[in-house]
Order: sequence, then C-alpha cells, then structure tokens
Amino acid sequence: MEKGVQIYEGKAKKVYATDDPNLLIVSYKDDATAFNGLKRGTIKGKGAINNRMSNALMHMLENSGIPTHCVEELSERDTLVKRVEIVPLEVIVRNLSAGSFSKRYGVKEGIAFSSPTVEFSYKNDSLGDPLLNEYHALALGLATREEIKEIKRLAFQINEKLKEFWSSCGVTLVDFKLEFGRLADGSIVLADEISPDTCRLWDSATGEKLDKDRFRRDLGGVEDAYREIMARLEQQMEAAE
Ligand code: C5P
Repeated sequence: MEKGVQIYEGKAKKVYATDDPNLLIVSYKDDATAFNGLKRGTIKGKGAINNRMSNALMHMLENSGIPTHCVEELSERDTLVKRVEIVPLEVIVRNLSAGSFSKRYGVKEGIAFSSPTVEFSYKNDSLGDPLLNEYHALALGLATREEIKEIKRLAFQINEKLKEFWSSCGVTLVDFKLEFGRLADGSIVLADEISPDTCRLWDSATGEKLDKDRFRRDLGGVEDAYREIMARLEQQMEAAE
C-alpha cells in the first residue's frame, strides 16, 4: 500500500490517503509537544517506538475482542489503519492520582484509587481541550448516549487489559488517554495511539517515570525512558510467545 496525498499533520503524526478510500496511512514523527503546543521538542526515535508499541498493544486488545482501527504495520514508522471519523472526546482513564487530577483536586501524585475513574475532555486545541461531562458532550452533539456508553465500556475493558499487561512488565499504568472513531457503519473502534506519549507508566519497583512526563517536566533521560519502556514491552511479548 502506497502513501497518497497527506491529508492531515498533527503534533506527533502525519496521515496520508491511500488508493482505498476506507484506509489511511499514519506516519509517526519524533516531534513532541506539551501544554497544548506551548512546549516543543524532538525525542529521537520516538516515532518508531510509538508506532511499534501502539500496534503491539492494539493487536493484544484486538485479540481480546476490543475493536481497533489497526490494519497492518507497514514500516518502522508507518501503519495502515481503517479510516474513521474521530469522536472529538479525549477519554482519560486513571488508576492513580497524577497530572491534572492531582493539580485540580489538590492531592499528591501516586494515590491508588479503589476503582478506576474516567473523564472526558472536548478535543479542541483552540479551547485547550476543556474538561466536560457526558451531558455537555450530548448537548454539543459530540456523541450519542449509546456511543458514550460504549466508549466507557471499552475504556474500562482496555484499562483492565493494559493494567495487567504492564504489571507483568514491572510497570504501573497510572493513567492514559484514548480516542475512539466511528467506522463507515457507525460502529465505535479504538483509534489514535497507545504509547508513552499518551500513558503515564511508572516503574513498579522504583516509581521512575518511563513516559512523556520526562519531557513535559524537564526531568532528562527522555530518550532512555522511551527505549526502556519499549524494551520491557518487547521482552514481555517475546516471553509470552
Ligand atoms: O494531564 P493529565 O493528567 O490530564 O493526563 C492524563 C493522561 O492523559 C496522561 O497519561 C497523559 O499522557 C494523557 N494525555 C494525552 N493527551 C492529552 C492530555 C492527556 O495523551 N492531550
């Protein structure tokens, strides 16, 4: 499958048309941004890591019955995906307090919740992705009641699978962001990516951050952290084969 015209360029990915109107090619970049584009940089090798990690995790989720947009990994940075209409909601699942949750509610990071939380923000860069509730999403016509119900069901199911997998790698899945899309028949599938850009992943033994917070918070060792988390995933996937 060949890349056609570029139809979109985001902060971390480019999207190309293909000769099949139902399929797109996503190409992962090394560019990194944070705080709605205010902080910019490059994380060498990130594109290849995020592409391979996202595909491996989505493949694992597919095998447990969760529908995703993935079709085939084409190269180190490129993946063939189903064309979807993105539901403009960022779906954030949390197992421990961190990031904006800690800031908003004035609690320290690392408090384990007795059950996971889910929250939505409106995927809208010019508004800074504001937090919204389900009624707001319905009022704005972002998704239907049934779609929101399905998205929450899938998000919690994905959390259980990912939490279990990362735990087997000696990693705590603190929180993550998902995006969902509608296929041509209206069904909801997991889209976008699952990577250290979109998840908080802490070493279970030491608490060391192995994700994009190293970039956001200028902690150093960003590239090493991405390589380390990828190595953990590969080791575990090989052991499971
Ligand atoms: O910043 P906050 O604590 O709300 O982030 C929660 C989770 O969602 C983190 O894992 C972060 O990486 C992810 N996230 C994201 N893209 C955003 C906002 C948050 O991937 N625009």
